[in-house]
Amino acid sequence: MAFRTPVITALCTVVFLCYAEPPTAAHLPPAVSSAFHRISPDSLKGHLSFIASDLLEGRNTPSPGLDIAAEYIAAQFRRAGLQPIPGTNSYFQMAPWKYRTVPAGAVTMTFERAGERIRLDGTRFTILNPQARDIRDAAVYKASLENLGRLNHLPEGALEGKVVLLTAPAPSQMAKQAHRLRDLDRQVERLQAAATMIVRKGSVGGGIHGQLIDPEDSRPPRQEADSGILAVYSNELAAAFESLPEGETAAKVSLRIPEPGESSVELKNVIGILPGSDPKLKDTYLLVTAHYDHIGTTAPENGDGIYNGANDDGSGTVSVIEIASAMASMEQRPRRTIVFMTVFGEEQGLLGDYYYARHPIFPLEKTIADINLEHMGRTDDSEGPHANSLWMTGYDYSNILDVFTAAGMLTGVEIQKHEGNSDAFFSRSDNAAYAESGIPAHTFCAVFLFPDYHGLGDEWQKIDYDNMARLNRTVLAAVWTLAERSAVPHWNDQNVKTDRYREARQSEGNKVNP
Ligand SMILES: [Zn+2]
Repeated sequence: MAFRTPVITALCTVVFLCYAEPPTAAHLPPAVSSAFHRISPDSLKGHLSFIASDLLEGRNTPSPGLDIAAEYIAAQFRRAGLQPIPGTNSYFQMAPWKYRTVPAGAVTMTFERAGERIRLDGTRFTILNPQARDIRDAAVYKASLENLGRLNHLPEGALEGKVVLLTAPAPSQMAKQAHRLRDLDRQVERLQAAATMIVRKGSVGGGIHGQLIDPEDSRPPRQEADSGILAVYSNELAAAFESLPEGETAAKVSLRIPEPGESSVELKNVIGILPGSDPKLKDTYLLVTAHYDHIGTTAPENGDGIYNGANDDGSGTVSVIEIASAMASMEQRPRRTIVFMTVFGEEQGLLGDYYYARHPIFPLEKTIADINLEHMGRTDDSEGPHANSLWMTGYDYSNILDVFTAAGMLTGVEIQKHEGNSDAFFSRSDNAAYAESGIPAHTFCAVFLFPDYHGLGDEWQKIDYDNMARLNRTVLAAVWTLAERSAVPHWNDQNVKTDRYREARQSEGNKVNP
């Protein structure tokens, strides 16, 4: 990767990490060494084979499967002896939300051209922002994200009553294409199209048919959830779409979405606390997080319609359980308090972490860092095998890199910067909620993208558990260091990309006061 920052100098407040060569286990403080032994591939496999089992039906937010996952995680925190949320005997931070949704069975779409007719129901759709529609025999305009200029040249209102169809970028291109999708959204509004639909091949996608609303959140909805663009998943439709000419076509689309209904839902962040051992530093906090939700189910293909989400992010979830359980077993607990948390609703726009940031259990100004874990289990990165390494988002944004690099020297794990993804995913992952509050916060992953990303094949049998255990030990050593040493992590003031986060940290009432 492009460069490394000097590792050793910043770390010498923690004696054991100051070795030029990777030390042997004998060099570890006994507390850390014994915790290392509590992390095992079989334990991780045991947890993940449940969290990613078909029983939990893809852990959509909200769903009974997500609630079962929450109970399981809480049971593991209880078993490990972690403390519940102060003043309660519960590990659940309850979020009483509203859910605006349409039943999938009531949504229909028909595509017709020259004697060909394709009829799809709502199980083929992702609808993030449900709005009633009754469109009949609307002419289809074929657009392309790569050629939005063509839309720019059309006069206002030129597509009134028409339906715009386009293909989706591959999931791996989504980050790069996000600004184009926003541009498309604006164009479609100006041209007054009746609907915009992204046509995707195969089963990639999810059974999300609604919008989750925090009644206490007065901000406008997040961009992703705000868009009126519908995604539809069908090989048949994708093939028909491909053969259409660009621009005006002779094809017609009918689309019916009923008026959405609103119901109350109880969502849960699952939180277990390891109290700090130092009389003063125990009132400062370190977050270790992962999202436990995924994208639910879809119409079955070859008998399987469940997005198990083993790597995304069952692997981060069970890593939080495993690291929490190992650290809770330490005879000498670290000095600062560690807050282990798995959150809901990441897949629908980082909802659970933003909820915590708006309703923190512990003061954000006394929260020194967030370590967020994603995609910890697979090593078959879409760009090639990737073992014994952790990608870090915001690689050169804070000095947390130094702590992880030193931890990696203990375990033979390299901390790396991905040229494209390390920056792109920084603001797209669960760490973003904390970074925006000024807290140094990063996401760590074994792979960014992998062959079954948001696909039906993301199953627990495909995880590299030996590698995952090694990565877990690395995270444990780094978390222990952050919680043990007196120095508080800080943003890299040489990097202009951290300006907004440093400003947030320095803003009134949010000064670090460890
Ligand atoms: Zn994820």
